[in-house]
Amino acid sequence: MSKKYVYLFSEGNREMRNLLGGKGANLAEMTGLGLPVPQGFTVTTEACTRYYDDGKKIASEIEAEIFSYVAELEKMADKKFGDTNDPMLVSVRSGARASMPGMMDTILNLGLNDVVVEGFAKLTNNPRFAYDSYRRFIQMFSDVVMDVPKSNFEKIIDEMKEERGIKLDTEFSAEDLKEMFTRFKTYFKEQKGFDFPQEPRSQLLESVKAVFRSWDNPRANYYRRMNDIPYSWGTAVNVQLMVFGNMGDDSGTGVAFSRNPSTGENKLYGEFLMNAQGEDVVAGIRTPMSIDKLNELMPEVYTQFAETAKKLENHYRDMQDMEFTIEKGKLYMLQTRNGKRTAASALRVACDLVKEGLRTPQEAVAMIDPKSLDALLHPQFDDKALKAAKAIGAGLPASPGAACGRVVFTAEDVVEWYNKGERKLILCRLETSPEDIEGMNLASGILTVRGGMTSHAAVVARGMGRCCVAGCGEINMHEGEKYFTLGGVTVKEGDYISLNGGTGNIYAEAIPTVDAQIGGDFETIMKWADEFRQLKIRTNADTPRDAAQAVQFGAEGIGLCRTEHMFFEADRIKAMREMILSSTEEQRRAALAKLLPMQRGDFEGIYEAMQGFPVTIRYLDPPLHEFLPTNEDDIAALADEMGMKADEVKSVISGLHEFNPMMGFRGCRLTVAYPEIAEMQTRAVIEAAVNIQKKHPEWKMVPEIMIPLVGEARELAFVREIVVKTADEIIKESGIALEYLVGTMIEIPRACVTADEVAQNADFFSFGTNDLTQMGFGFSRDDAGNFLGHYYDRKIYESDPFARFDQAGIGKLVATAVELGKKTKPGLKLGVCGEHGGDPSSIEFFHNVGLMYVSCSPFRVPIARLAAAQAALKNPRK
Ligand code: PEP
Ligand code: MG
Repeated sequence: MSKKYVYLFSEGNREMRNLLGGKGANLAEMTGLGLPVPQGFTVTTEACTRYYDDGKKIASEIEAEIFSYVAELEKMADKKFGDTNDPMLVSVRSGARASMPGMMDTILNLGLNDVVVEGFAKLTNNPRFAYDSYRRFIQMFSDVVMDVPKSNFEKIIDEMKEERGIKLDTEFSAEDLKEMFTRFKTYFKEQKGFDFPQEPRSQLLESVKAVFRSWDNPRANYYRRMNDIPYSWGTAVNVQLMVFGNMGDDSGTGVAFSRNPSTGENKLYGEFLMNAQGEDVVAGIRTPMSIDKLNELMPEVYTQFAETAKKLENHYRDMQDMEFTIEKGKLYMLQTRNGKRTAASALRVACDLVKEGLRTPQEAVAMIDPKSLDALLHPQFDDKALKAAKAIGAGLPASPGAACGRVVFTAEDVVEWYNKGERKLILCRLETSPEDIEGMNLASGILTVRGGMTSHAAVVARGMGRCCVAGCGEINMHEGEKYFTLGGVTVKEGDYISLNGGTGNIYAEAIPTVDAQIGGDFETIMKWADEFRQLKIRTNADTPRDAAQAVQFGAEGIGLCRTEHMFFEADRIKAMREMILSSTEEQRRAALAKLLPMQRGDFEGIYEAMQGFPVTIRYLDPPLHEFLPTNEDDIAALADEMGMKADEVKSVISGLHEFNPMMGFRGCRLTVAYPEIAEMQTRAVIEAAVNIQKKHPEWKMVPEIMIPLVGEARELAFVREIVVKTADEIIKESGIALEYLVGTMIEIPRACVTADEVAQNADFFSFGTNDLTQMGFGFSRDDAGNFLGHYYDRKIYESDPFARFDQAGIGKLVATAVELGKKTKPGLKLGVCGEHGGDPSSIEFFHNVGLMYVSCSPFRVPIARLAAAQAALKNPRK
């Protein structure tokens, strides 16, 4: 039997998500539940991948299959495509496996043409409505399928409003709308050189192709990369009978959530517009009414909708996000899906579902996107400063959090400012569109003039965890001139403003922020996560402050303390430079002796902050030239201080110059050349531990000394001997029995494949996946960004291997090292401290490969706790 590429809604169900996409699978499921769904069919995701495999063509058998389903649908609807008396009209919408809000495009009213529209006018006895439907179709089809931007048609509408001296779309007469679509078609022909397509079947086929094409547009690619959605999935296309929310005052359309997507409150939440089509709600051009209002206007429809929402929620056992249309008093469900929600809402909904008996704690933990916790963990406004500040206006609190930054007016400008190093930016727009996605992601906050709580800006910002205030209609926006006015204040590009995503307030000043407050539901989920996870979670921290923050977030140790960061501080860099400029061992030791007390003090502070949890201290790692000045004035000053000539300093600097510093004189190579560096660092680590052990006999101090960049077993053996000799002497003198470990980072491919030998001198391995990725791919971690874009465009790589661990390649190196290391030492301690230690999908790999802990930055600790629990629930280790 040949493969089936098209399914009626009545042939599918929710289990078929991979094939039918989320939207298609849920339409099928709702059909199966007997809910009022306008019928239709889904062209599968496999048809999309086939389209690309066939060189962006729809194979003739798939085309034939689509048309045989058109015939089926005609039978079901008892209408015909292109019929001049009672035409079948459809919508065409994309639907990938994972929901990609705003990424793909929708076409409504397909099937209209110059002749059909007249029949439709007669049939509905409403020429105005028919002409309006046709002009909308021309606009959408031109925009989505034919690349003639919608905004150009909006200009024609504006011209006509001016000519007629009217303000609102609703003031156009039927004749006006007829003239409008005629002008649209003329404009279309001018742009494209051919007439607007009249044949419904070709309209449909072109639309299906356009949906397939949109899978590969730049914003879809960007969204996929951000959300780890593979390109290979493809999108499905849903073709569905039209129902009309714009048939008069007994019609309408809306979007609603079964619970509040911002707070999680268990109460129907949403908005709708009477006498409107779906695009009007989402586009945010008209301001919608709250769903409660529907209860006043059409109580029966409201009750039916509220019951349907509950039914769907109980069925999916999750909060639902639904689209509906009311056509002449009759309710139709157009879509349902698990609703996107803020992190706070996600936690509350998950905990409430457990309380309501709909979910188990395991399921609740699995429901929460670990990355979304980010939004909860970030700063809020300082209460006092906020009270003292005066809002200049307010919009809708579309996505929570506090944002303070400099104003820019286009997404491209966000990117430009960001690339120049500005990290605090607020994107201010009339309304946002999918093209703005990159700018929205890089901005700290988003402010829009138009749009409700379900507008593009609101939905996307919430998904990203970005603070967003939407729909502040009082803003007088001049995007082109890069300023706006609000509450009598003029705000120009580069000025600071602050947004409160919790209240919607807008401030024309920079308001200081304070650390996030996390409470009840968060603690409940974290407690469950801690019960289920098998990985320990440590943190990468170099200061007592970061260490304390991490402990607060649940860190169970430090997995990486980068000691070099301590040497960059103003009071230390001098001694460091002295050490580097020394020409004899004696001079070097003298300089190191100055550094010793400072470093010992740092370690004491960190041990204290960690309250007895294990601390891994990594020895000096970067190439020495990083500590030396680069400009003439600084070099002259340094020469002065050191009693050297500027030329002598320059000659040392040029002597340290390397063509490939990342593969140069760094890591344990420094100790091989200058053993006294490791001696001093050992002294600092052990003396600090002795002091703290004496002060806190209740803690069991076992400092972990970590040697970086080892690629050969004898390298480690050499450094270990220095460490052990120094440490044992100090311990003996101290009179207390202090244990310590000496281990290594595994960050050079050679160390992975010789890990059995390396393990002979290592008490632990910690995978430095940043360098391991760099050395494994041969990509400079500092420069790869310059060319990786080309790889994403060509789909050679889909994500940044420095952010998301490359399981297929670097993963094999890690797995090899784990296996070889354990062969030598079955009880070898294993962890990871590269950036991947805080990335959920990478954490799943580290769990599966048998590591004991992951280590990540303090703010990612809760994310890692949750991700580790999810990995353990998915694949429990023995
Ligand atoms: C690593 O290489 O993964 C690592 C953690 O060390 P650094 O980033 O300091 O090189
Ligand atoms: Mg490294």
